[in-house]
Amino acid sequence: MTEQKPVIEFKKVSLSFDDTEVLKNIDFEIESGKFYTLLGPSGSGKSTILKLISGQLMADNGDIIFENQRINEVPAEHRRVNTVFQNYALFPNMNVFENVAFGPRLKGLNKEEIKSKVYEMLDLVKLREFANREIDELSGGQQQRIAIARALANEPQVLLLDEPLSALDYKLRKEMQYELREIQQRLGITFIFVTHDQEEALAMSDWIFVMNDGVIQQNGTPEDIYDEPINHFVADFIGESN
Ligand code: ADP
Ligand code: MG
Repeated sequence: MTEQKPVIEFKKVSLSFDDTEVLKNIDFEIESGKFYTLLGPSGSGKSTILKLISGQLMADNGDIIFENQRINEVPAEHRRVNTVFQNYALFPNMNVFENVAFGPRLKGLNKEEIKSKVYEMLDLVKLREFANREIDELSGGQQQRIAIARALANEPQVLLLDEPLSALDYKLRKEMQYELREIQQRLGITFIFVTHDQEEALAMSDWIFVMNDGVIQQNGTPEDIYDEPINHFVADFIGESN
C-alpha cells in the first residue's frame, strides 16, 4: 500500500464566537479522492469547519495544514477549494451556460476551452440541454445541479458541500445522493459533505465524522459507526430517524 499524504489536516483546532467555544480541539485528516461526511445536529460546528477550510474564517488556536503548508500561507489561487451551499447561490442574471462558464472565464481559458468545459460539466450533472435556460426557469433540483456543475468547473481539488440536498424533497434527495457519489468517484476528487441526516451520511460516505457541540465524537467508516457507536450520543443520533 502506498502511504498517502493528507490533503488537509486539522491539528487541535479551536474557535470561539464571543465567549462560546464552537470548535474544541478538532483533529482530523482528509486524504485525496475520498468522500467524507461531517454529520451532526444543527449547531454542532459543521459549517464552521467548512469555513475554516475555505478560508472564510480563521482558527483561534491550532493548525490547519493544506498540502503540507499552513492554510493561511497558501495563496487563495493555490487553494483549489470550492463550496456548494444549500441555497444554490447561482447568479440570477446569467443563464445556465454563463453560470458554469464563470470560473473557467476568470481563469482565462479561451472560448473553445470554456465551451468544452461547460458542456463536460453539464453532462456530468445530466443537464446538457439546459445550457441556454435562465436560472428562474429551473426547478430547485436543477438549480442545485447547476451549482454543482459551476463549482466543479473550477476544477477544485476539494469540493465542500454544505447541506446541498437539504432543501430538496425526499425522492429527489435520494436520486441526488446517488449521483453525487457517482460524480465524486468519476472525478476522483475529495468531497467534504455536510449533513444532519444519518441515513444520507451512511449511504454516501467513505468516512464519517460524527460531530456534536464542537467536538468530533467518532470517526470511521459507515459500518464502524453503525455497528459500533462509541458513546450514547452517537448511538442515539444514528438510531434516530428523520
Ligand atoms: P452547524 O453547521 O453544525 O449547524 P455551525 O458551524 O453553523 O453549526 O455553528 C456552530 C455554532 O457556532 C452554533 O452554535 C452557531 O450558533 C455558532 N455560530 C456560527 N457562526 C457564528 C457567528 N458568525 N457568530 C456567532 N456565532 C456563530
Ligand atoms: Mg451548517
